[in-house]
Amino acid sequence: MILIDGKKVAAELREELKQEVSELKAKHNKAPGLTVILIGDMVPSQIYVRMKEKAANEVGLKSEVIRYPEAVEEKAVLNKIEELNKDESVSGILVQLPLPKHIDKQKVIETIAPAKDVDGFHPINVGNLSSGYESTIPCTPLGCYLLIKKFEKNLSGKNAVVVGRSNLNGKPMTQLLLKENCTVTITHSKTKDLKGECLKADIIVAAVGIPELVKGDWVKKDTIVIDVGINKTDKGIVGDVAFDEVSKVAKAITPVPGGVGPMTIACLLKNTIECFKRLNSQN
Ligand code: NAP
Repeated sequence: MILIDGKKVAAELREELKQEVSELKAKHNKAPGLTVILIGDMVPSQIYVRMKEKAANEVGLKSEVIRYPEAVEEKAVLNKIEELNKDESVSGILVQLPLPKHIDKQKVIETIAPAKDVDGFHPINVGNLSSGYESTIPCTPLGCYLLIKKFEKNLSGKNAVVVGRSNLNGKPMTQLLLKENCTVTITHSKTKDLKGECLKADIIVAAVGIPELVKGDWVKKDTIVIDVGINKTDKGIVGDVAFDEVSKVAKAITPVPGGVGPMTIACLLKNTIECFKRLNSQN
């Protein structure tokens, strides 16, 4: 079994991005800029935003965090996004989710200019991805995709099973694997025989949110297993895959932590740089 070391791959990617940022700065006389909007004081969101800000600074991006109290009016947030859409020093806008109940998430996502939507959640980016056009790809599935490709260059004809159909993970992951000519099965909570589906897979991507759902006898040997799950349990953080069992069978597997997680942040930086390049492609 090969352990797919997301921490190492992410560190290599960040190093490449650092170099690219320095070249872009020299060429355009300005750095790509990432602006994060953080609403309220939920601890996990605060931690994620701090990690994103630190990573952005490390590769040389211009980063800014705009903080609002929990009770901020929706209109104030939408106005700020409109302002950032027009601000030439901003290449990427991210609104940290989840949002307070009185703020309409979809309205917020749709107000971000698609060209600055570093999360890839805007319907224009979602549509472009599913049509096979250039788009910004959501950071976590992009990270999974890069890990799979690092390990296996040619995915054509492979059977891929994606467990979970969220807009954040499962659906964009499916599109990425389809684009690589995999035969993709997307499964969810109503799937009748999840074990049977997984047993047909050459590649499994699990994004469910149920600790250790995917068991050792659900996986055939020679399968690549990518575990997106981050679940807090009594024994610490575990993924959606029973690592101890599955790692005895699979050809390759990502650990939790240290697998997909570090790639998500690196891909946010990558997306910000891609947005900058597209916005400045005429110069
Ligand atoms: P989500 O929006 O809650 O979606 C979960 C999906 O799993 C749904 O499609 C659901 O099916 C499906 N599901 C639930 N129970 C199932 C079962 N018994 N069998 C098969 N499918 C089942 O979750 P998410 O946002 O995609 O997140 C999934 C996990 O990834 C979570 O642990 C989250 O913390 C983690 N995550 C990690 C990262 C990272 O950077 N590593 C980033 C984001 C999320 P239905 O559609 O039928 O309800």
